[in-house]
Amino acid sequence: MQFVSTRGKFAVENAAKAITKGLSDDGGLFVPQYFPNLTAELESMLSMDYAERAAKVIGSFLTEYDGKELLSACKKAYAQFDEGDAAPVVKIDDGLFVLELFHGPTLAFKDIALTLLPYLMRKGADISGVKENILILVATSGDTGKAALEGFKNQTGIKICVFYPSEGVSDMQKMQMCTQEGDNVNVVGVKGNFDDCQTAVKKIFTSSDIAAELSAENVVLSSANSINFGRLVPQISYYFSAYLDLVNSGEIKLGEKIDFTVPTGNFGNILAGYYAKKMGLPIGRLVCASNSNNVLTEFFESGTYDADREFFKTMSPSMDILISSNLERLIFELSGRNSALTAKRMEDLKKSGKYSITEDEKKAVKAEFFADYCDEEECSEVICDTFENSGYLADPHTAVALKAAETYSAQSGCKNKMVVLSTASPYKFSQNVLKSVSGKMIKDPFKAAQALETLSACPIPPQISQLKSKEKRFTQVIDKTETVKTVCEFAAK
Ligand SMILES: *Cc1c(COP(=O)(O)O)cnc(C)c1O
Repeated sequence: MQFVSTRGKFAVENAAKAITKGLSDDGGLFVPQYFPNLTAELESMLSMDYAERAAKVIGSFLTEYDGKELLSACKKAYAQFDEGDAAPVVKIDDGLFVLELFHGPTLAFKDIALTLLPYLMRKGADISGVKENILILVATSGDTGKAALEGFKNQTGIKICVFYPSEGVSDMQKMQMCTQEGDNVNVVGVKGNFDDCQTAVKKIFTSSDIAAELSAENVVLSSANSINFGRLVPQISYYFSAYLDLVNSGEIKLGEKIDFTVPTGNFGNILAGYYAKKMGLPIGRLVCASNSNNVLTEFFESGTYDADREFFKTMSPSMDILISSNLERLIFELSGRNSALTAKRMEDLKKSGKYSITEDEKKAVKAEFFADYCDEEECSEVICDTFENSGYLADPHTAVALKAAETYSAQSGCKNKMVVLSTASPYKFSQNVLKSVSGKMIKDPFKAAQALETLSACPIPPQISQLKSKEKRFTQVIDKTETVKTVCEFAAK
């Protein structure tokens, strides 16, 4: 299947190329030429396990990958999850379900894509004849960094460099990254926020000077962020899997519509849901949940995306984002795949920090999406209420989504079953979760985790308890102007 750039100047002949390149040379994002329809396959997918469903969904785009090999790569990736189930659905109330995506090696939903991406990229490089070493650049708001490091550590022919906002991630997230093992990895703090990291990385991708310099070292760049289609495509699978699980448990009938609520930052997770819908999965609404950085809530309400606003540091740091990269893929679809218009809007965003969609587009987007946000106090309240009412311990990102799901249900009166995506383990944010459920503030993240375990009887994952004794290998913090130098030096090492 061919892949085209959202900004139109560039196309590649297959997914293998789109995945190894990561970002298009014109600065746009690669999108599939069309969406394969799986409606007729849903029934046969009921009896499949998670890995088999994933191979089916992913394989429908990655037509040049060998199907059997892809299936065995999926089985290997998802065997790394607790009990081999990458995405269990948990019922927490009548008609309300939580899709738990945090049972992988680094306790965040990013694991679902990043346990598989090394295979997709290595194979993609083989298929498209890439002979150079690959340097993966990652900008992270906390969770992508660790998940990508774990996925790519010690892979021959691949190096990985992660940039994170030095003061913008949780203690546990920082510790997870700074203690990373592997001889091909680099972790660097940047004085700034996630948007600064992401902008710096995107700039490096589109600079022909840097490409030339790296080429002299026999290195090409790629991305493990959700701007890479290879990151996005494994995320489509869990929408299918959750749906099929609900049919199997008798909660819904095959063909019945359900809604999803997604805690959103860079718009990669929810976009995968939109893609699932385009592939024929019976989805009603997609609810886009934001924290106090509510640029998306406003966009869905007003039709204007305005990133020129105050940036808030919240207890859901993986959503502290003002420039949601993957929204570009949505507005490309909304515009009827008008790449010139998409390019113009992205240019406006770069120049003036904003762009608007038309009234017709706004109407169309409102039929598919609902958006809401919640502030810090409400987030704490939801964590507390959910724990008291259903014994369920939600992390702050999941809590933001639970709140939006409730607002949607109250405002729309819609009776569809609702699945809320749970994107991280509460233990990654132990201090804030503990404070929300008990009112107690314990500064030490491990002591807070201990108290939380006692209180909730929800066991501390070993990935968290093991962190304490691990050596801190990476302590470098740089200015955002130093990212290019850092990348070139690491590439030459
Ligand atoms: C990355 C992340 C999000 C946001 O996902 P996007 O794909 O960037 O919208 C939400 N919650 C957690 C815990 C995350 O790590």
